[in-house]
Amino acid sequence: MNLEKYELKGELIPIVTYPDPVLSTKAVPVTEFNKDLQHLVKDMLYTMYHAPGIGLAAPQVGKGIRLFVLDVDYDREMVTTASGKEEPRLSGFNPMVFINPVITGTSGTTTYEEGCLSVPGVYEEVKRYKSINVKYQDMEGNFHEMEADDMMSICIQHENDHLDGIVFIERLSNLKKQFYKKKMAKEKGK
Ligand code: ZN
Repeated sequence: MNLEKYELKGELIPIVTYPDPVLSTKAVPVTEFNKDLQHLVKDMLYTMYHAPGIGLAAPQVGKGIRLFVLDVDYDREMVTTASGKEEPRLSGFNPMVFINPVITGTSGTTTYEEGCLSVPGVYEEVKRYKSINVKYQDMEGNFHEMEADDMMSICIQHENDHLDGIVFIERLSNLKKQFYKKKMAKEKGK
């Protein structure tokens, strides 16, 4: 997909898939808010939109640091190009960056059929908090706090789990968890 027309610049970073060990490792806090960090964020957003996905955590691109990007607002519409090819057209971007996030409050519950770029082809309902409060830092290291509901809340919880080494299939029933663990290990072995 050509993202340049959206003024999105960056490089694609390969997304690691389950059961890569980096996905089950607790990530460490970001301490340096420098150019390298900005560069990584730019490439992660680029990679997320390219996938396309609504969230991407640093461990998913092999970096064990507490950082994720998300966009739960943008639209993807399939269009036919002049050459007759089907491709997604994106609009309404709202990229967000969360560094060293901490969930400080929760309320209610909700379920949603989640998927994950690191667990291709698996979609399962996961129970999450309906609303959360989250504290985080931006790329300059400034602290922020926000309340998130519904999709934003679900996405933050999913991505925040990645920073604690938890992939969403870990949140399923034991039976489903074992099924997918075996399936993914088998596919990885091929
Ligand atoms: Zn994920």
